[in-house]
Amino acid sequence: ILARGRDVCKRNGLLILSVLSVTVGCLLGFFLRTRRLSPQEISYFQFPGELLMRMLKMLILPLVVSSLMSGLASLDAKTSSRLGILTVAYYLWTTFVAVIVGIIMVSIIHPGGAAQKETMEQSGKAIMSSADALLDLIRNMFPANLVEATFKQYRTKTTPIIKSPKMASEEAAPRQILIYGVQEENGSRVQNFALDLTPPPEIVYKSEPDTIDGMNVLGIVIFSATMGIMLGRMGDSGTPLVSFCQCLNESVMKIVAVAVWYFPFGIVFLIAGKILEMDDPTAVRKKLGFYAVTVVCGLVVHGLFILPLLYFFITKKNPIVFIRGVLQALLIALATSSSSATLPITFKCLLENNHIDRRIARFVLPVGATINMDGTALYEAVAAIFIAQVNNYELDFGQIITISITATAASIGAAGIPQAGLVTMVIVLTSVGLPTDDITLIIAVDWALDRFRTMINVLGDALAAGIMAHICRKDFAQDTGTEKLPPCET
Ligand code: ASP
Repeated sequence: ILARGRDVCKRNGLLILSVLSVTVGCLLGFFLRTRRLSPQEISYFQFPGELLMRMLKMLILPLVVSSLMSGLASLDAKTSSRLGILTVAYYLWTTFVAVIVGIIMVSIIHPGGAAQKETMEQSGKAIMSSADALLDLIRNMFPANLVEATFKQYRTKTTPIIKSPKMASEEAAPRQILIYGVQEENGSRVQNFALDLTPPPEIVYKSEPDTIDGMNVLGIVIFSATMGIMLGRMGDSGTPLVSFCQCLNESVMKIVAVAVWYFPFGIVFLIAGKILEMDDPTAVRKKLGFYAVTVVCGLVVHGLFILPLLYFFITKKNPIVFIRGVLQALLIALATSSSSATLPITFKCLLENNHIDRRIARFVLPVGATINMDGTALYEAVAAIFIAQVNNYELDFGQIITISITATAASIGAAGIPQAGLVTMVIVLTSVGLPTDDITLIIAVDWALDRFRTMINVLGDALAAGIMAHICRKDFAQDTGTEKLPPCET
């Protein structure tokens, strides 16, 4: 029993530590609240958590650039362009559908609060029209300076101009009528009344393109994706850069693998620090429960209804039989929270149980593990809107569109490793000017939600392989033999 216990601890060390750190963070936070720390002491206490946030932010640039460029560059080299275009189009489309499902769920359930107290405009944090937000989105997609895009993004600056009112006849018209009177109330009280006839000043807003601090990840994603596609077309002459990107991607993933061991320690201080700052932690905890339910509901709708129905309509085959074939892979995804680590099992299930052509699986699955993360995209959209709701920010239509596009892009940029979505979450938040520090609000339940969204990520890749095998069945000769599995990076 001891040996088995040790084995379980070894395999699930990080998970156990994460659960522990969340518990310790909550307990510590609530305990320290009774001590009434000064703001200065709280800010010192939050330092290890701040360090964790810095690590996450530091990894975004190399992670996004390397995973997109190396992932997309391998397209044409390994498979026909028809399969490549169909697969990428399918991935983008289903990811976008997942985001829409998430947005609908979070708008219906509204986990972040029942009523909107003030809009962003009322809070004075941003005064921007939807048209400006849309223009900023497009500007950010095409940064003029790539180096600048690593630390600045475009944001329209809106300044109010107060115009003095014009009277019909400036001299003749009276500005004020004063009415003098005496009013006696409870003894004696004198009041003078003034009737102001001056028309209210006219306020017009002047918008001009400007920049704010923060990485323009959308622009970097668009550039890296385009570079990746072009590199794939260049053939052998593009190999040095592709190898560089693959190497960079692997080394970044190794850094992440080391950094995750700091996460449990940082999480304690992030959570406790947040609890110390919060006005009413009980209310937020309740909201967090609703948030988790919203994400899970969205994942269930997308993974158990939309994707299987899509499979059924395209292939006319029973999706339940297909999903039963990949159940083992789904359980591995639940256990590891990593679609990359699940890859060898997904291969095995698809080849042995669902008899998918191995050439299709070899292409569709690794690309899917890099760029197709429906569960992650759905969760990122829900989380961003939840954070806006908690902060009482009302997002306008342009900002919702920005969230749907950046959540799709952020899921493409996320690596298939545990809690990678948490890293790219910053992209979505910064794109609409939401406070990135509020990621701490959702960290407490992220380790659990990560498992469910990874299952949907893996299911999305597997169903995509089934659909592509059906669509491209004429292009590929049937070959479902027992060739040894290709080596996979885990
Ligand atoms: N853990 C997820 C995966 O490996 C990525 C994420 O959403 O964090 O697919």
